[in-house]
Amino acid sequence: MKKVAVLYIATGKYVRLWPGFLESAEKYLLKSCEVEYFVFTDVDHLAEEEDNPRIHRIFQEPMPWPYTTLLRFEIFLKAEEQLKAFDYIYFFNANCEFKQPITEEMLLPRPEKHEHMVFVLHPAFYWRYNYEFTYDRNPRCKAYIPMGLGRDYVCGGINGGDRDAYLKFCHTLQKRIRQDKDRGIIALWHDESHINWYAFTHPHYRLLDASFCFFPGWDTVKPCYIYIRPKEEYFDVDAFKRDPPKTQLSPKVEKYNEFMLKAARKIQRHMPWLPRRKRE
Ligand code: UDP
Repeated sequence: MKKVAVLYIATGKYVRLWPGFLESAEKYLLKSCEVEYFVFTDVDHLAEEEDNPRIHRIFQEPMPWPYTTLLRFEIFLKAEEQLKAFDYIYFFNANCEFKQPITEEMLLPRPEKHEHMVFVLHPAFYWRYNYEFTYDRNPRCKAYIPMGLGRDYVCGGINGGDRDAYLKFCHTLQKRIRQDKDRGIIALWHDESHINWYAFTHPHYRLLDASFCFFPGWDTVKPCYIYIRPKEEYFDVDAFKRDPPKTQLSPKVEKYNEFMLKAARKIQRHMPWLPRRKRE
């Protein structure tokens, strides 16, 4: 039986999302595998932990927005030795809820196709031209992707892979995010920008469609396998995320980006046959 480690972060008010996540995972997630949960949290008790030996609670100090999500790879690597005992490692955002059975065939990388990592298309971007993707556009940032490049815009909230590939991904991004942080740089969409850089530079991954990251309001995607619960129903997200630290782009970079955006738009307009996914 394959062993799968699920990584889950729930500090502060995010812990309110845990019971719904666990209940749906136990019902639908990889039922043919042995799934264990590594929960990084600041609470001293998690729902079901005394009855379910597959729940491992690891203490994680809460941090102001966006550091818990941005520094997630450092957080995961605290459990690296334990994670080495698993065949696969997957991360899910706290507000994920599984809605239908998710099998090995649906979720795991396919070695016969040389896949080791798995990413999910972001439901708000998959049909757009790549110049519209909100990649980080600051050349000084380690998540930078130049305008006009990039095939997919993947979501930060769901990803996974085989153990070795996933641990390599964590080490690489942990180092790059730390290098940014030491220079006062925060990527535009935090971990998601870095994950997109990784996907861009390591393109042989399994790409799942946006039905594995189903946002209410972007529900043209069918069916819904993983539902992203609105966090607003659990706590005041705006108050929590007010005035986050951001990197300011220099006027020169702003100007360059504006110029490149215009150029990319023009090119795409004159070449409508350029590849773009259809919105379902
Ligand atoms: N998170 C957390 N505590 C925090 C902030 C974030 O536990 O104070 C975790 C949680 O797992 C969450 C993930 O980081 O799902 C990403 O944050 P969030 O979902 O708010 O990001 P967004 O949905 O805006 O991408």
